[in-house]
Amino acid sequence: MAKIILVFLGPPGVGKGTQAAKLAADLHLPHISTGDLFRDHLKRKTELGLKAEGYMNEGKLVPDDLVVDLVVDRIGSADCARGYILDGFPRTVPQDMALEKKLALRDEKVSAAMYFDAPREVIVERISGRRTCKACGAMSHAVFAPTRQEGVCDVCGGETHQRADDDAAKVTERLKEYDNKTGPLVPYYREKGILHEFDAQGGVEEIYALLKAEANGLKG
Ligand code: AMP
Repeated sequence: MAKIILVFLGPPGVGKGTQAAKLAADLHLPHISTGDLFRDHLKRKTELGLKAEGYMNEGKLVPDDLVVDLVVDRIGSADCARGYILDGFPRTVPQDMALEKKLALRDEKVSAAMYFDAPREVIVERISGRRTCKACGAMSHAVFAPTRQEGVCDVCGGETHQRADDDAAKVTERLKEYDNKTGPLVPYYREKGILHEFDAQGGVEEIYALLKAEANGLKG
């Protein structure tokens, strides 16, 4: 199987992280979420984490150079040799250009961009009920996919919480950033002929079946 490099694209809260994690587990590829990488740096109070903190707290994108360095470093790891799934990166056209430039040095390129979208009211509803486990990162939803016991992760028993940037005011800012900076990647990837579009309004399994079929098509 050729090396497979996938980009997962879409507004915050659309469910792309859930889909990326499922596909990564199925294909035995690393799931690289830049949001998770930043949150980990923040927790460990690294220099990068401290630089990113202000932007993240305001719902703004972290400057391109910081993100690109982080990703380039991560995709150089041995576990990325067969390929990887990038979740939440690139988020701007310059981020993609920097990535593609790096990949071209190794005669590689992005295999496909998986783009998920849903109406804004659906996104806001999903994001406001979203809960994350503090210990293992597993996601649940207060209304659509509640944990068996409120506040307790079904997977590991850890404490669940609402991400600081998932509150209503921050979500508005994040959607604005998405429209201004990330949205232009949609026509950009479409023009490159690598955009695969998914209606993210359905159930997790229903959307995943469509995603899996597209991913299988890429391998063939
Ligand atoms: P996420 O978990 O993907 O919603 O990311 C959380 C936050 O991390 C974003 O609101 C940004 O502040 C930052 N972030 C994650 N990925 C990127 C990226 N590719 N470019 C810029 N900022 C990012």
